[in-house]
Amino acid sequence: MATAAELAQLPERPEAPRQTTQFRTTRPQIVGADAPESPFPILLAGPVQRGFGRGGKELGCPTANLPDESITPISSVAKTGVYYGYAQVLPSKDGKTELCQDDIRVHPMVMSLGWNPFYKNEVLTAEIHIMHEFRSDFYGYDMNALVLGYIRPELDYTSREALIEDIEVDKRVALNSLNRPEYEKYKKDLHFDLSCTIASS
Ligand code: ADP
Ligand code: MG
Repeated sequence: MATAAELAQLPERPEAPRQTTQFRTTRPQIVGADAPESPFPILLAGPVQRGFGRGGKELGCPTANLPDESITPISSVAKTGVYYGYAQVLPSKDGKTELCQDDIRVHPMVMSLGWNPFYKNEVLTAEIHIMHEFRSDFYGYDMNALVLGYIRPELDYTSREALIEDIEVDKRVALNSLNRPEYEKYKKDLHFDLSCTIASS
């Protein structure tokens, strides 16, 4: 299976598979082995960038974008699709942070790596939805993420409702999959700033 980076070099990118009702009704509620397997865990880190205003928030699912250079560790070893893991937004270095203690803890996340077929995206992007209600946006803040498993390939959506529904399933599958001891321990991985997470366990 070609990695996302290899596919990005091709003049014609393959089309994302079509959305099918069958795929959705048969989706497993938990994915991956009982412990993360190679190439996971994959570490990603970088400052949160503005996306393309593609309406993540409108869909009830804001996604924080990482810069191109920050996604090399995953695009060179993995395929496009939806992943799960943990992410943390770090307090700003100048100390003038708008984030509260809860915001800067390590939270479960779902990440999309791909062309985003619904919006006919042109470049490979990694967008992370953190499963936490933030008090404010955090553009420009550093974000660390640990990708622990793969949920599903990219799909081509014919309706906004189907997309929203699948995102909800992705979130549930991510939480179920992370709720296993060998995954939970990565919440305390040294990739994260644990001084922010002492009270979070
Ligand atoms: P953009 O196109 O700029 O990525 P989105 O609608 O996807 O816009 O919103 C993403 C932004 O929303 C993030 O960069 C971040 O600042 C903010 N945000 C607020 N809550 C979350 C969350 N739970 N997960 C990810 N981003 C969030
Ligand atoms: Mg976004």
